[in-house]
Amino acid sequence: MKRTILFILLFLVSNVFAQETPTLKSLLGHEIGVEFTRHHEVISFYEKLHKAFETESKILEYGETNEGRKLMLFFMGSAENISRLDEVRNMHRLRGNNSKLPIIWLSYNVHGNESSATESSIQTAYKLLTEHKDWLKESIVIIDPCLNPDGRDRYVNFFKQYAAITQNTDPSSIEHKEPWPGGRFNHYLFDLNRDWAWLTQVESQQRMKIYNKWLPHVHVDFHEQGYNEPYYFPPAAEPFHEMITDWQREFQERIGKNHAKYFDSAGWLYFSKEIFDLLYPSYGDTYPMYNGAIGMTYEQAGSGRAGRSVRTNLGDTLTLKDRIDHHVTTGLSTVEVSLQNKNELIENYNSFGVDKKYKYAHYILRGDNDKLQKISNLLRAHNIEFGQIAKEGRVKAWSFRKQIEQNLTYNKGDLVVSTSQLKGPMVEVLFEPKTYLSDSLTYDITAWSLPFAYGIDAHGFNGALEMDKNWFQSFNRSSMPNCYAYLCKWNSMNSASFLQSILSQNITVKVAEKEFQIEDEVFPVGTLVIPRGINKDINDFDEILQRAAEDSWIDIYPVASGYVSKGKDFGSSSYNEIYLPKVGVLSGGDLSPLNTGEIWHFFEKELALPFRMFRLSELNRIDELDIIVLPAGELSADELEQLKQWIENGGRLLVFGDAAYNFVADFDISVRDLEIDYSATEREELSGLITGAIYECDLLAKSSPLTFGYSGYYSLRQSASNFSLKNGKTILSLPENAEQVSGFVGFKAKENQDKAMILGVENFGKGELIYFCDNPLFRGFWENGKLLVANALYFGND
Ligand SMILES: [Zn+2]
Repeated sequence: MKRTILFILLFLVSNVFAQETPTLKSLLGHEIGVEFTRHHEVISFYEKLHKAFETESKILEYGETNEGRKLMLFFMGSAENISRLDEVRNMHRLRGNNSKLPIIWLSYNVHGNESSATESSIQTAYKLLTEHKDWLKESIVIIDPCLNPDGRDRYVNFFKQYAAITQNTDPSSIEHKEPWPGGRFNHYLFDLNRDWAWLTQVESQQRMKIYNKWLPHVHVDFHEQGYNEPYYFPPAAEPFHEMITDWQREFQERIGKNHAKYFDSAGWLYFSKEIFDLLYPSYGDTYPMYNGAIGMTYEQAGSGRAGRSVRTNLGDTLTLKDRIDHHVTTGLSTVEVSLQNKNELIENYNSFGVDKKYKYAHYILRGDNDKLQKISNLLRAHNIEFGQIAKEGRVKAWSFRKQIEQNLTYNKGDLVVSTSQLKGPMVEVLFEPKTYLSDSLTYDITAWSLPFAYGIDAHGFNGALEMDKNWFQSFNRSSMPNCYAYLCKWNSMNSASFLQSILSQNITVKVAEKEFQIEDEVFPVGTLVIPRGINKDINDFDEILQRAAEDSWIDIYPVASGYVSKGKDFGSSSYNEIYLPKVGVLSGGDLSPLNTGEIWHFFEKELALPFRMFRLSELNRIDELDIIVLPAGELSADELEQLKQWIENGGRLLVFGDAAYNFVADFDISVRDLEIDYSATEREELSGLITGAIYECDLLAKSSPLTFGYSGYYSLRQSASNFSLKNGKTILSLPENAEQVSGFVGFKAKENQDKAMILGVENFGKGELIYFCDNPLFRGFWENGKLLVANALYFGND
C-alpha cells in the first residue's frame, strides 16, 4: 500500500514538473518556423520564457531603436550564477583565477532581412534551457535576439503583406522581391555590421556600453547570404590582422570542425576558410577578436529573397525551418565546444594582449579643440584609456602627415593614447598608420587609421612619456557684456552644427572670405562673425550663442570692436551673410540605400538641418529647392533631364560617388576607367581595384569656400575611377603619380589614380554641380570629410 502511495506521489510530482515546462509553441504562439515573428512578439516570447525559467534567466533591456523598438539581452545560466551575475562579470573582467565560467554571446539578425536569425535565437534559447540545462551550469550564455529590430520588422511586415497563403516558392514572385530600401539596414539605412568600431548608430552605441562591460570569451554574429549558397562557418579566410593570435585561429578551426560533424551527419552542405576575412575592425567578428574573444560570423542561405520557402537553383526547396535548424545547430555546437575547452578558452582570453608587440607605445594627438573632443568621445565609447602629456619634451617620432620619423616637440596637455592597456590591440588596429595585409583578397576597406579620418595631427612614438591619466579640455567660452561681435573658427562639424543651430534661431551670421587677425589670434577664412549690431532684435542673443557653443563643443571669441589688427574690418564686403538653404535629398529607384541613409543621417542627426527627402518620381516639384543631394546610383534619361533644367535655372546639385557617371555624356565631367576583363579571376580582378585606401589630396583651389576649414585633406578612396573636369574647377585632387598613404590598391588601379578629382565644381546655366567623387559621408565615420559637405551647403561656390 505504502509503495502504491509512493508511486502515485512520484507520478503526480513528475507530472507537475512536466506541466511546468511549457512547450515552445505555447510560449511563442505558433510552431517555430511556420511564420515570421514580429519584434514585439519576439520580446513577448522572451518575457514568457523568462517567466517559465525565472531563476535561470534574466532579461536586460539595453535601449531603444530609432523607431522605438526595444533592444534586449537574454542571459542564461545556473540559478546560482544568474542570481550573482554582477559578481560573475567582475570575476571575468578581472581575468584572474576566479574566472571559471565561459561567457558566450550570441548575436542575431544584425541585417534585418536575414530573417531566420532571430527565429533561430528563439529555438536556441529554449533548447538551452530545456535539453541542455547541464551546459548552463558551467557557462553564461547571452543572447541578443535582434540587433536591428527596425530593419527586421520592415522585412517581416513586407513579407506578411505579400506572402501567398499557399507559399509561392517561385523566386520571382513578389514575396521574394523586397522593395527599396529593403530590410537589411537600420532606420537610417546604415549597415550595423559595419558600425561596431565607429558607433555612428544608436543601436551600436547602446549595445557597445553593455558589450564592453562583459567582453565575452566567444561572440557569434548570425547572418544569412544568398539563398543558393551552402552554410558558411569558420575558420575564416585570409587576410587576418596581425593582432589575431594563432590560438584564436586554431580555436575557430576547432569550432568549425565540431559544426562540420553535425552537418556531415545530417548531409547539409557547408564551406569555410573562404570569403569572410578578419581585418576591417567594425564587424561583429573582428571587433570581438581584437578584444580577445573568439569572434565569428555564421552565414545561412536565405536573406530577403528566401521568404518561408524558396526554390533554389538546384531545384530544391529551402524552407524557413531548414534555415532555423542550421543556425540552431551551430549555435548549440558553439556552446558545446566552448564548454569542452573552457579552461583553455579562459586562459588564452586572459593572456590576450599580454606581451603583445605593438608598432608604437604611444600615439600623440594634436589638433583643434573640437576635433579632439570628437575623437576622445569615440575612445571613451570603446573604454580605451587616454591621458595627456604632463611635461613638455622633444623626441623622435613618426609623423602620420609626413610619413617619416622626425623631431617632435610635444606639449603639456597633448592627448596621448597608449597601447599598454587592456584595449591595446584595439588601439593598434584603430591607430596604426598602415595595416598589414597577409592577403589582398578582402571583403572590405583596408584603411581607416583614425588620425586621417578625424583630421588630427598624430605621431607614433616608442619610449617613455610623462603622462597624466586624465585628459581634460577647456573651451574658450568667455563672455563679454555687450561685446561687439562673437567669432567662431570654422574647424569641424562642431562648427557647422553651431552655425545651423544659431541660424535656425534667427541669428544673422556672416562668414569671413579673407583671413584676419585680432591682436595675436589669427582667424582663418571661413571664420563665422556674428555682430551684435545686426542682431538687435534678438533678445537673448548672448544666451543663444553661449548655449549653442556649449552644445556643439566649440570655442567662441567675444570681441569688443569691429576693428581688426590685420585684414578687413567686420563692416567690409569680404564678410558675406549666410542663409539657411532649402535642401532636398533624392531617394529610391536605383539610388544606393546606404548612401541615401548616410546623407539622411548627416542632415537629421549631425546637422539638425530640416530637409525634404523625396522620391525620384517627384522631380517635377523641385522649383523651391536651393540644393538637391543626389546619392550614388543611376538616373533615367527623364530624371536626368528634369535635374538638368533645375540646375540651369540656378539649382545646386551635390553629386555623390558614382552618381557622377550620370553626367559624363552631357556635362563637363569625364572619366577614365580601367577596361573590365570579363575572363579575369577574382584574384586577377584585384589589380584593378581600390576597396578603401587613404590618399593625401592636393588642395588646388585654396580660396574656394568649399575648402574653408581645411589646410590639407586625406580622402578615403572607394573606387579606382578617375574623374576630371574639362572646364570646371577642380578643388581637391590626387597628386601626379599618386601613391596611397595606407590600404590596398591594385597595381593597375594605382596607375589610374594620376590627378584623379576628389572634389570639383562645374557651372551649368545659372546653377552648378558639385562632385564628391569619394563619398565623404561613407559609413558616417570619415569625420574630416563632413565639413566639405557642410561647406557646399552653406557657402557653395561663391
Ligand atoms: Zn548579414
